[in-house]
Amino acid sequence: MTPAIEFESVVRRYGALRAVDGVSFRVGRGEFFALLGPSGSGKTTSLRLIAGFERPDGGRIRLDGVDVAATPPYGRSVNTVFQDYALFPHLSVLDNVSYGLRRRGIGAAEARKRSLARLDMVQLASAADRSPTQLSGGQRQRVALARALVNEPSVLLLDEPLGALDLKLREEMQTELKTLQRSLGITFVFVTHDQGEALSMADRVAVFNAGRIEQLDTPRTLYQRPATEFVARFVGSANVLKGRLAERVLGRTGCYSLRAEDLRLVDATAVTRAGHATGTVIDVQYRGAASRVRIDVGGGDVLQAEVDSGRLGAAASIGASVGLAWSEDALIAVNESP
Ligand code: ADP
Ligand code: MG
Repeated sequence: MTPAIEFESVVRRYGALRAVDGVSFRVGRGEFFALLGPSGSGKTTSLRLIAGFERPDGGRIRLDGVDVAATPPYGRSVNTVFQDYALFPHLSVLDNVSYGLRRRGIGAAEARKRSLARLDMVQLASAADRSPTQLSGGQRQRVALARALVNEPSVLLLDEPLGALDLKLREEMQTELKTLQRSLGITFVFVTHDQGEALSMADRVAVFNAGRIEQLDTPRTLYQRPATEFVARFVGSANVLKGRLAERVLGRTGCYSLRAEDLRLVDATAVTRAGHATGTVIDVQYRGAASRVRIDVGGGDVLQAEVDSGRLGAAASIGASVGLAWSEDALIAVNESP
């Protein structure tokens, strides 16, 4: 099947900076695709290239199999929800949503009907006559969504749409967005710097670092099989053992990822063999069901273990001597990042 979106070795430069540096990916129709990466890694630029607000300096972009090099933004079946929502403050909620339809020449009654239907979908029909300035952040977010969806785009681009919301609302909207995407069958390209958000919502995630894709995989594979040190750290918050640390603790060379929840705390005196280490607890972060324990293993190196809070025991105290154990298959060889 023809992909909804296709990037082939796409490059976008700003002066000497390669903001997007040879990026290739394909997004399937109806897929929920996330671009995940730290600030400045090229996510927004990639989204703007899809929308047509930016032109590539190299490579090809195809939408539904058609090269869009010569297609202006308004000629693409793509709508964007911007991080700041970009609502018109002087227009009512309803007029914000129907604006695009009216500009396309759709009659007032029909535009009103369709806009109300979209507002109803995001549970805001009752706020149709209010001004966006009278709404909460979460409500404005929903208006922006309704405004993008009313045009019935085949692709919806979302640039950190939940970034301005507090945690509880963000989690609610994550569920809502995912449900909406499933029921409408629209292709979503979702930009975020929040790995939890990307992993919980997306079918596949492209992990960006410095204008390139480090790894493109399903959430499960990214988490369980990170390909690079960068992905191990950024997506899995994993321990990375390399160089001196790998030699000392593992007795081998190379670069390995070891997830915090795969590290077990054991009695320090029980540590007698390779695959085990000892250290001193320097920090305990309570996070509800689980706690993060930071252990100084000597030589200036710190490992993190995620431990069931109910089983913290003696390890809960700073300064305690602990043993660390892990099973061999928890060690994942990854490519060292520069
Ligand atoms: P992200 O969305 O991942 O935070 P961006 O795609 O916005 O990253 O930016 C990637 C890089 O390109 C950054 O270093 C940013 O400063 C730079 N950049 C983005 N837009 C412009 C622009 N219009 N002019 C110059 N540099 C830009
Ligand atoms: Mg951005």
